[in-house]
Amino acid sequence: MSDPLRGRAERVELRRKVNHEAASECTAANSRESGFAARALEPGHRIVDPSFASAEPLSKHSVQASAVTRAVNPRPDGGARAAEIYPAHLLHPRLIHSHLRENVKKPLRVMKFGGTSVGDASCIQRVVEIVRAAAHESDVVVVVSAMSGVTNKLVEAANQAEAGSRESVAMIFEELRERHETAAKVLIPSDEKCQAIVSVIQARVQDGERICEDAILRRDLSPRVRDAISGLGERLSAPLVAAALAERGVASEAIEATELVVTNSCHGAAEPFMDLTRERCEARLRPLLRQGTVAVVTGFIGATVEGVPTTLGRNSSDYSGTIMGAALDADEVTLWTDVDGILTADPRLVPGASSILEMSYREAADLAELGAKVLHPKTMHALMQQGIPIAIRNTFAPERPGTKITTNGSANGTVVRALTASNDAGLITLRASRVSDTPDILHRALAAVASVPAELRLAPQHSASQDEICLVVPSALAAPTVHALRKEFTSDLACGSVKGLALEPAVALVTVVGEQLFGPGGLVGRVLNALTCENIAVLARSRGSSRSSFTFVVAQCDMKSAVVVAHRQLQSSAGAAGGRSL
Ligand code: ADP
Ligand code: ASP
Ligand code: MG
Repeated sequence: MSDPLRGRAERVELRRKVNHEAASECTAANSRESGFAARALEPGHRIVDPSFASAEPLSKHSVQASAVTRAVNPRPDGGARAAEIYPAHLLHPRLIHSHLRENVKKPLRVMKFGGTSVGDASCIQRVVEIVRAAAHESDVVVVVSAMSGVTNKLVEAANQAEAGSRESVAMIFEELRERHETAAKVLIPSDEKCQAIVSVIQARVQDGERICEDAILRRDLSPRVRDAISGLGERLSAPLVAAALAERGVASEAIEATELVVTNSCHGAAEPFMDLTRERCEARLRPLLRQGTVAVVTGFIGATVEGVPTTLGRNSSDYSGTIMGAALDADEVTLWTDVDGILTADPRLVPGASSILEMSYREAADLAELGAKVLHPKTMHALMQQGIPIAIRNTFAPERPGTKITTNGSANGTVVRALTASNDAGLITLRASRVSDTPDILHRALAAVASVPAELRLAPQHSASQDEICLVVPSALAAPTVHALRKEFTSDLACGSVKGLALEPAVALVTVVGEQLFGPGGLVGRVLNALTCENIAVLARSRGSSRSSFTFVVAQCDMKSAVVVAHRQLQSSAGAAGGRSL
């Protein structure tokens, strides 16, 4: 069976070598023709550090006996002659030039830009410079989110439509129209060209208003209609980014992912059918790439086979990026965001959190699943098998390395650790005597939770005294869950076999993720001690099933200090071990 990772590494290495040699040839030829050693900057161009857009693929798999290395070092057994195995252009570099003209393949990069990266005209200008630099050396597919905050506004518009509030809906769409038009006017100074993009913006806004008006008349908003409304943000940002690229001389085309990403009909959390998606991407995007056009694809959305628009879930443009990467067998996917990659904690909570340079798909997935907002939990699913590397980079500091996610993660095997935190949970405590001896109580409690339905945020816990069960549910569902539990245990509460039900409505979950967390002197023990020293009460705790995480529950008002205290321990343990933190 062929090894896909090795195949990828070989292809990448081959492309890199061929391109490098061709580039040297072209540079030499250009210099001869123009008399200049380097291309002059066009007026108004900012210099972009080429190091962040280098053609060097991220793939860390070493190239074992690639075609190129074998050509240079023929087999010692003197078996097949190199000329029989390798194309002539590899053995005779002077043939490269003509070969390249017909046949060269540039590395393919998928570059996804999040909401803050396309938040206004000046952010979009940064995006344009990053894409422009990359497009010199690579084929590029851009995936964009909606401008920051726009999807929230659209969700609000949908809610207002459901409530029948025409006026609120109109205000939201007016605000969105104005915001996008303002950006368009800055990005595209020429009146005529700007008018074209303004017409697109107005048409999209009218789409949204029309869908909401239908919903108001029917007083009903199906998940299908919600998806059609909430997906409008990306349909507004993609044409804007494409137009801004064109304005700076980068051939580009905005494409709606409803044409490309074929999904099931699970509205609000749709899953792609990868084979169909691959076919569509090949048919629609490959010809554009061949002619050097940058495709600017909407993140977040897709469509069913019948063409009904869907969304992949909130925050899922990361996933759209890796779906595109997998579908096109890209050389790398870069998720451009507003922080320096994945950090040891959310920098909004811990300003001193540090970037993690390298991690494995598995480590990144754990962190994302346990709540690190920087990555959508499904991001890694799409391309793990193909071994396509993911980079997380900062649009606002593109010279910084960010984080590289690969199959094996860090080469030097150091311990990987980080913290995540989320603050929108309620903690329900059910008291009975020796609950662990009466599994029936736990089963009945879980059935009551499922009837709400509420998703447990933490595995149900017994207290140390064994006479309490702790259940953590999303804040919004805490009261209905207590209601369902009261109903289930009415007679038990009356006769005293269940002693009480209590709700702590505003709690936070802080999770330590990584390896070697437990045992004497382990990080978890040290974090719990430090929290006690700081008088931060731990209301419940849970060891993750894989032993690579530990979650503790604190009052919401204690969350920030708990994270800071835990992070201090994490940093000192990373320092002591001489390792890095996840
Ligand atoms: P984008 O719109 O680019 O997808 P998001 O807002 O979804 O960006 O994710 C980036 C944000 O994730 C950061 O601004 C940061 O506040 C938050 N975040 C949470 N945990 C982490 C972490 N461990 N590392 C980096 N950022 C994190
Ligand atoms: N715009 C979508 C959201 O806000 C998707 C994304 O930005 O990743 O959820
Ligand atoms: Mg995001």
